[in-house]
Amino acid sequence: MGRASPFRRRARRALGNPVLARNVLRATDTSLAHRREVVAERPDWEDLRERAAALRRHTLARLDRYLREFAENARARGVQVHAARDARAAARLVSELARRKGATRILKAKSMATEEIELNAALARRGFRPLETDLGEYIVQLAGERPSHLTAPALHRSAEEIRDLFLREGVIREGTALPRDRRALARRLSLSARETLRSRLLEADLGVTGANFLVAETGTVVLVENEGNIRFTTTTPPVVVAVAGIDKVIPRLADLGILLPLLTRSATGQRAAAGVSLLSGGPGERHVVLLDNGRTRMLADPEDREILACIRCGACLNTCPVYRSVGGHAYGWIYPGPIGALLAPLLRGRGEDWELPFASTLCGACAEICPVKIPLHEHLLRLRARAARAGRRGIGERIGFRAFRFLAGREDRFRLAARLARRMEGPLLRLGLLAAWTAAREAPRMARPAFHEMRGDHGPAAS
Ligand code: SF4
Repeated sequence: MGRASPFRRRARRALGNPVLARNVLRATDTSLAHRREVVAERPDWEDLRERAAALRRHTLARLDRYLREFAENARARGVQVHAARDARAAARLVSELARRKGATRILKAKSMATEEIELNAALARRGFRPLETDLGEYIVQLAGERPSHLTAPALHRSAEEIRDLFLREGVIREGTALPRDRRALARRLSLSARETLRSRLLEADLGVTGANFLVAETGTVVLVENEGNIRFTTTTPPVVVAVAGIDKVIPRLADLGILLPLLTRSATGQRAAAGVSLLSGGPGERHVVLLDNGRTRMLADPEDREILACIRCGACLNTCPVYRSVGGHAYGWIYPGPIGALLAPLLRGRGEDWELPFASTLCGACAEICPVKIPLHEHLLRLRARAARAGRRGIGERIGFRAFRFLAGREDRFRLAARLARRMEGPLLRLGLLAAWTAAREAPRMARPAFHEMRGDHGPAAS
């Protein structure tokens, strides 16, 4: 068999790590259980989903108009709005701003857009080290890792692992008495992180956030949080910049009435988030960077466009049997799970990203749970076909299909191949690709006798 692909190698590593498997399963199970409870309280849940899906599709079909409206209204409130064509341009805009302002203390709130543009690395190249203020992001920053989930960046880490990390990094002093009970330990760890972060939250030169939504009608940046760190990040520093994908725009403030309940219930199983900030202009200097980075290309295709309806709740990750087995890092980019398997090839588009649509059972659980009703499994199938057309599948698979076409193209060849295959099927199934395929699936046995043998040499039945 050929060399395993990057995804397979990472997935195999993840599967060989029982601690990771336990952490991911425990966290996703908890999220799903909380979600189930709060969704059951809303008899209008399906109606909400329908309305949200229609709203997102309406907006994306007119995104140029709503983006213009957002930019005009934000500028009217004193916000400086910038457009970034790609990740590099967006990272340059923010790091240039940090340099111009002489920022030495930079606070960062959790944001997938800033992960997408690899902002921390870009800032580090200029000598800045921003402080992640979200607990999960702080943990992965200390560990030198990427987030492994859209809404719970450190979901792959157990409380015990975080305790060891905090001890190693001096967040907790050696010799401190810590509870053994996991819940009590988790609480103690978050308090320790808060104590360490608090003093640094009060003194900052620049705040960097993402955005959950951008309201066109009012030029407002909407940020949802549970820890209060976003309030600090957007109020302590004199200069604040929000980096947001252009797909984050929604038409009206009233649309939050549909989207926020869906987001918080799907993401964390909460009726409402602890805090929602609606930032329309100052105080201080405000910037918004509107990130394209492949989204315009997706918008141009009516089918790809539907994927941009995603509100990054992370529920499809929690329910996906593949994500639940291998966790987020196996996907190789910052967007994992079913939505990541679509966004990675379409936004980043590296060769290895095109393998991700194949990393799915196509069970459809992701589409069932998605609050904005994206038929994720259908898009995964569609991208598989696109990958196959572009010849991005492995050489072994292509040879296999060509061989089948050759054998099935003529009856005498097909009969001979079927006879041989029946004799050899046991050993054949233990070979190369077939062995890999049957390792996790039961291969149907060949019929004895075959249908063409039962009907003898009479040829096809007359219709
Ligand atoms: S695709 Fe749907 S379920 Fe998945 S993160 Fe986006 S909104 Fe949530």
